[in-house]
Amino acid sequence: MPTRILRILRRSLTLKIFTLCFVCVHMPLIAVIAYLGSGFGAEPMPLLFLLLIATVAGTGLCFLGLWWLIRPLKELASAVETYQANGGSLNLAARSEDEIGTVTAAVSTMVTRMDGAVRRLHHQATTDALTGLGNRRWLSERVDDELARASRQAEPLSVVLFDLDLFKAINDSHGHHVGDQVLVAVAQLVRTHLRRYDLAARIGGEEFCVVLPRTRRADALMIAERLRKAFAALEMLPLPPGSVTASFGIYEAAPGDALQHILSMADKALYDAKRTGRNRIADAAQLASDR
Ligand code: GH3
Ligand code: MG
Ligand code: MG
Repeated sequence: MPTRILRILRRSLTLKIFTLCFVCVHMPLIAVIAYLGSGFGAEPMPLLFLLLIATVAGTGLCFLGLWWLIRPLKELASAVETYQANGGSLNLAARSEDEIGTVTAAVSTMVTRMDGAVRRLHHQATTDALTGLGNRRWLSERVDDELARASRQAEPLSVVLFDLDLFKAINDSHGHHVGDQVLVAVAQLVRTHLRRYDLAARIGGEEFCVVLPRTRRADALMIAERLRKAFAALEMLPLPPGSVTASFGIYEAAPGDALQHILSMADKALYDAKRTGRNRIADAAQLASDR
């Protein structure tokens, strides 16, 4: 029976507060009963003194007890505030079995689940489902940081934009699923050719963008040339060898360039590569100097 009562008490904040207040309010009475029961006389002055001490002790105990019982709630509030202000993880462990413990555990679980769901949704919203590369949204999120870093540290940054050549013909002749396999194979080749910190995204149907931090246009041209050769060498049945080619546009960003401008410059070069025969690379700077 006492264990049952203790269990109920452990789980109920109301009962804990009630018990604490009850004991504290009755401290003077308990003290007087204990005093008289111990055989001391009922002289008024010592009794008055005892009552005073017991009242102060009861009030102090009540205050401390309430503070101790409410402390997990304050910790929960401060953890939620910190989480709202800075994000990150909500570091909370339920320390009691009462209502505050229940709310703490529930908030902690809900936030962990919500964080996981948000991370999954963000990944889905920024990843191309077919190739696993980032998509245009992902690129624009990441490029701003890269551009800011390049400006801050006065480092070069180049962009390689490429579009598969006559891809519609592959779909028309061999079916959409073969076209899909080509896109997956191209994405895989891009991955194997890039450095850890390069960014590659599929930004359109058969259009890809590679952002190369700390890279001058001469090196970007070399990387694009490697990709061009790798695509042309791709062997994928039922396609005849050399069926997969791409045209490339290169642009080295100038300080302060926005993503939109960078893409538009690389796109102009890409258009020129298409216009002048496909399966080749055009450099936006070269185009500008030729004009
Ligand atoms: P160009 O050399 O001028 O770029 O010719 P193209 O045929 O590649 O260009 P066009 O814009 O005429 O055709 C692009 C094709 O890409 C048409 C579209 O059906 C195909 N495509 C776009 N997205 C996908 C996809 O996810 N899977 C497949 N299989 N095909 C796609
Ligand atoms: Mg194309
Ligand atoms: Mg295209």
